[in-house]
Amino acid sequence: MGEDCLFCRIASKEIPSNVVYEDEQVLAFLDLNPQAPTHVLVIPKRHVANLLDAAPTQQDLLGYLMLKCAEVARQLGIGEGGFRVVANCGPDGGQTVGHLHFHVLGGRALTWPPG
Ligand code: AMP
Ligand code: ZN
Repeated sequence: MGEDCLFCRIASKEIPSNVVYEDEQVLAFLDLNPQAPTHVLVIPKRHVANLLDAAPTQQDLLGYLMLKCAEVARQLGIGEGGFRVVANCGPDGGQTVGHLHFHVLGGRALTWPPG
């Protein structure tokens, strides 16, 4: 992967994004087409296609990504009001980019169930 994966190219800075958090393993950046006042994508820098593709050895990475979702929410001021973390998986899940990403959405009251 890498070359033809959009989020690998964003992770390597080949394609620019609005970064809100970064460390060795994780990048968080603003979604290009925000669905809420705050809409951030949290991704592992190393390619993982989606949750279905995650290996048991990546348990720590998955936990780390979840903690980073919360940290980013807090950092962007939506921790108190509340927010939603979403990982779309596969065609019926509505996944359009084949690199694992967690949507962190907030800044308005979100409806349920999703469409
Ligand atoms: P999903 O539909 O769950 O696979 O989410 C993919 C998300 O990536 C969508 O919310 C898109 O708006 C977002 N997206 C696509 N291209 C970019 C980009 N270049 N920079 C930031 N977000 C993007
Ligand atoms: Zn990738």
